[in-house]
Amino acid sequence: MRPEDVPGELESVLFSEAQVLERVQQLADEIAHDFSAEPPLFIGVLTGSVMLVADLVRGLPFHSEIDWIGLSSYGSGTESSGEIRIAQPLHREVTGRDVIVVEDIVDTGLTLSWLIQHLLDLGARSVRVCALLRKPDAAQVVVSVDYLGFDIPNAFVVGYGLDFNQRYRNLRDIAVLDPKMYT
Ligand code: IMP
Repeated sequence: MRPEDVPGELESVLFSEAQVLERVQQLADEIAHDFSAEPPLFIGVLTGSVMLVADLVRGLPFHSEIDWIGLSSYGSGTESSGEIRIAQPLHREVTGRDVIVVEDIVDTGLTLSWLIQHLLDLGARSVRVCALLRKPDAAQVVVSVDYLGFDIPNAFVVGYGLDFNQRYRNLRDIAVLDPKMYT
């Protein structure tokens, strides 16, 4: 799906598909450089990170093990509540593993900081974070993002996996949703 398929619903395109793919390949190159000895376990946070995981691991020169975790924070709409629960558990063993959490966007940071602690509690040897987008102005807790695509303004964005009420995930570009869609 492209912006012209949803006329009047988007405020602006932030990153084109080509810009996103170029940046994701750069992140893959950084990961490849850092993990040349032993490949990490990639854990994608459902569902927003599916496009990013798919493109990221295809950009790597080594075999990449992937697992998924589903997290939901209570609350709805465009605000996150900070109370996290596991909606879909991991299937692979993380004890002793170097893990890279792959997340679509770091907003308040509450989801990621909870997940990092959860993985350390499960015995992961190390936990790094790869996120395509970060809203620095929205941070409520500090999460260090080891592999970051882009910092963006504090607006609600959709596309490339990011949704609003399950819509716009399959938009190829990353765009700011027109506020009239949720106000
Ligand atoms: P955090 O816990 O506030 O950092 O929120 C992280 C999650 O909130 C992300 O994984 C997204 O699912 C969702 N989210 C935050 N901001 C946006 C946005 O601008 N568009 C779509 N989803 C968002």
